[in-house]
Amino acid sequence: MSNNDEKPRDASPEEDVLGDTSVLVSREVPAGVDRRGFLIRSAVGGAAAVLTGCSVSDADRTAKAVATTPAQAPAASAPPLSADLNVVKKGQGPVLTTVDEFYKVGPGPSSSHTIGPMRITYDFYQRAAKLPADTLAKATKLQVNLFGSLSATGKGHGTERAALAGLIGKEPATVDPLFLDSLRDKPDQVFPVKLGNKSIDVSLKDVIYDATKGDFKHPNTMTVKLLAGNDVLLEQEYYSVGGGFIEWKGYEPPKKNAPKYPFRLMKELRGHADTNKTTIAKIMMANETSISGKSEAEVNAFLDKIANAMIATVKSGLSMSEDDVLPGPIKLHSKAATVYKRAMDDKFQSDRGIGVLSAFALAASEENGRGHLVITAPTGGSAGVMPALVYALSEVRKVPREKIREGLLAAAGVGYLCKHHATLSAAEGGCQAEIGVASSMAAALTATAYDAPSQVVENAAESALEHHLGMTCDPVAGYVQVPCIERCAFGAVKAWTAYAIASNEIASRHRVDFDATVAALAETAKDMNSKYKETSEAGLAQSVTLC
Ligand code: SF4
Repeated sequence: MSNNDEKPRDASPEEDVLGDTSVLVSREVPAGVDRRGFLIRSAVGGAAAVLTGCSVSDADRTAKAVATTPAQAPAASAPPLSADLNVVKKGQGPVLTTVDEFYKVGPGPSSSHTIGPMRITYDFYQRAAKLPADTLAKATKLQVNLFGSLSATGKGHGTERAALAGLIGKEPATVDPLFLDSLRDKPDQVFPVKLGNKSIDVSLKDVIYDATKGDFKHPNTMTVKLLAGNDVLLEQEYYSVGGGFIEWKGYEPPKKNAPKYPFRLMKELRGHADTNKTTIAKIMMANETSISGKSEAEVNAFLDKIANAMIATVKSGLSMSEDDVLPGPIKLHSKAATVYKRAMDDKFQSDRGIGVLSAFALAASEENGRGHLVITAPTGGSAGVMPALVYALSEVRKVPREKIREGLLAAAGVGYLCKHHATLSAAEGGCQAEIGVASSMAAALTATAYDAPSQVVENAAESALEHHLGMTCDPVAGYVQVPCIERCAFGAVKAWTAYAIASNEIASRHRVDFDATVAALAETAKDMNSKYKETSEAGLAQSVTLC
């Protein structure tokens, strides 16, 4: 019998090269070689060997694939963050963040480009005020220099106005947004800054948009100087590291008490909850009180303040007329109120739900676009997501306040872990670090508010984050409006979808754990091209033409 007459036979699993691609693809990718290109060439080589009957050893196939694969292109991502930043080092120990550090009230539109810079210049002002009287007597000028992403997109974020406000002693939580509006409308205003017996005049001209590219420790770097002519009396380099958190050169984090239930992973946080037959929210509360020394009543009072502020931003946004135009060159009209009214008229109940939840997110996010007070959860750009769910649960579904507090605690745990191991900064990780984390937090909030088991809380948070991985940051004209405002609506709806799936699936069969997705967030952030990290150099910022 000739070979052609042989009956075809079923290939064993080992022989089925189409079923088991491992025999086609060498798993080891040699250093310096583009992984994707190498794997494709290796697979093609293996398949050709099978089809032609030509026997090629693994070693030969690997050598051929290496020879024909182009060298790995240099990554176009931003320079790595400096290893001595606390925001980089802190991933190694237990989470020590507290809710009053995390949820911050401040003016929009960006926690890293507005709240952070205002906190930075306020910090410098306080340092300068402590200088000896004879040093202050020589002072003639205060100067702020913005670098990296702060320089690239700061104009659209109002960074110069925020920096000036901090310099003259205003803090994010209490500054009147109308004051910031007045700086925009009358940019030539001059303000005296009292330092000892000296009074130094400052204006927006003292905030300089400096180099956008350079070897910075963090993409959001700025310096503040007190000068006597050309002589520097005091200078400090600062970093706005995301979510309104700040650091400076030589920063040492404040000493804190040990948490009652130390964790650095969701696996450990959920483990504490399950071992103690309690909830993630209760473990978070125990840690809040042990780390901060505050009572539960004090923590709850703060959580109530944050929930009320979130509800207020939604109400305020919904009250704006559809003819209101947001500041800036995009000339974007408010649409939260219109979407809300029309959604309420929808004949399908499910469509009403999606429509009004979107409207709540649009409302809070439009408030951010106006530069009004918002809450970092975790950032200004994503400030529509959590308020939308808090408003929907609290004001529409009438979920008791106690459950909202617990939801805010569980959401904070999710945000802490993303900050601890990845980033909350779009300048470091793109929009996945803002809207993605916000959506993940909102999913945990919703699951917790509905008394879901800890596994479901984790699964919901994981799912919402997973489906934002890779999302880039490309704000049109550098303004936190397009795509940001609608993105908050999508983030809110995805949070609800994540909760809906997590609470309806068989929880133990969920195959991706939250920690793995946070690791993917961190890796994706590192690999992302720097053009997509809040620089407005690519994506929608380039393709949308404003007229
Ligand atoms: S695109 Fe996303 S990350 Fe970038 S500014 Fe807008 S909301 Fe923030």
